[in-house]
Amino acid sequence: MDEADLDLTELPFGSNLTFMEDRKFDRGPQIQLREPAEGPEPLYVTRPFLPPLNEYTKILQGIWNRGILTNNGPLNYALEEKLEQFLGAPSVATISNGSLALEMVLEAAQLTGEVITTPYSFVATSHSILRAGLTPVFVDIEDNGFNLNPARVEEAITDRTSAILAVHCYGIPCDVDALANIARRHKLTLIYDAAHAFGVRLEGRSLFSFGDYSTLSFHATKVFHTFEGGAITVSDPAKRDRINSLRNFGITSETTIPYIGTNAKLSEPSAAMGLLQLDYIDFVLSERARVDRLYREGLADIKGIYVPPIPDGVISNHSYFPILVTSDFPLSRDGLYEHLKSERIFTRRYFYPLLSSLPMYESLPSADPKRLHNASRASEQILCLPIYPLLSDSELQRVVCAIRRSSSHP
Ligand SMILES: *Cc1c(COP(=O)(O)O)cnc(C)c1O
Repeated sequence: MDEADLDLTELPFGSNLTFMEDRKFDRGPQIQLREPAEGPEPLYVTRPFLPPLNEYTKILQGIWNRGILTNNGPLNYALEEKLEQFLGAPSVATISNGSLALEMVLEAAQLTGEVITTPYSFVATSHSILRAGLTPVFVDIEDNGFNLNPARVEEAITDRTSAILAVHCYGIPCDVDALANIARRHKLTLIYDAAHAFGVRLEGRSLFSFGDYSTLSFHATKVFHTFEGGAITVSDPAKRDRINSLRNFGITSETTIPYIGTNAKLSEPSAAMGLLQLDYIDFVLSERARVDRLYREGLADIKGIYVPPIPDGVISNHSYFPILVTSDFPLSRDGLYEHLKSERIFTRRYFYPLLSSLPMYESLPSADPKRLHNASRASEQILCLPIYPLLSDSELQRVVCAIRRSSSHP
């Protein structure tokens, strides 16, 4: 595809936030599948951000004109370039989803044996290790945090260890300096599952400047989405060729197929959605920051509800709003979860159960819950509250009031 074939002027990349001034944002026609249930509107833990449909159809018109629907089309290239700028990542390869991004990195890095990882994550993290034919080794998270504890990581290294797969849980950065130091001294590949960390910055630096590889998910439930989608960022652009080939069946030229690749390409309509999401990313992030701030005010003095602070030096993306329901609260975490559900507030227990307790992992020596004390406690106390752009102040107050009411239970 020649650059000249791509008329970027037909693509509405400029920001148009005027419609946001009207807070009664049109969420589009609702398809009514069944009679609405009695009671208040349900509130879910997230709701995908959708830009105005007419802006999306304008970009679709370009796809129709070009007749290029996928296979690394011009919108995909444009998205990769814009993501490199926005994320501050040396090189970004889009992938059809975040799970395949993880699998592809483990393949590209040519790992063997054991990969040290966290039990406190979404199941795709550890499944990718098993699916790559490698052995996950679970280590505990920090005493006051949700990410891998570097000291425990170092203790778990054996002569079979080839990599560390860490997760920036809730977008809170891992101890990147300590992990880099360990990886360097033991010659391990350092991979970050950054599915929660789109746009997060640490001490003024992009989180995507750390580690050998990071992976992203652009699933509809994430801060930035392309319906389904994902990406791999690599610190060394020389590693990029192998990923380009792996996401395209292992093909490197018309007659050369040196790798066992798969199909993990991002389609043009998905790339179009990504380009449009980038136009609105400042709005999306500021909306999430507003919700975060209001929750912190509303929940500040409730005994037994602990709201983890955003660490110093971190510009958060507020991808989740995690709270810990401690023993000082009159209800258990599950009690509060059920109570909120009865008020049609659907929170999520991210991450419960621990990955190490799932049937395919529980017999691993590293899955022993006695060695995963912090992760076990977090998974018993965690609750993630609804947070998304355009969650209204009154919807948010409904959540806060419901928690406050259950805090005064006998
Ligand atoms: C969402 C998520 C994934 C998987 O991404 P998909 O795009 O849904 O495949 C992987 N890891 C973590 C931590 C996630 O939250």
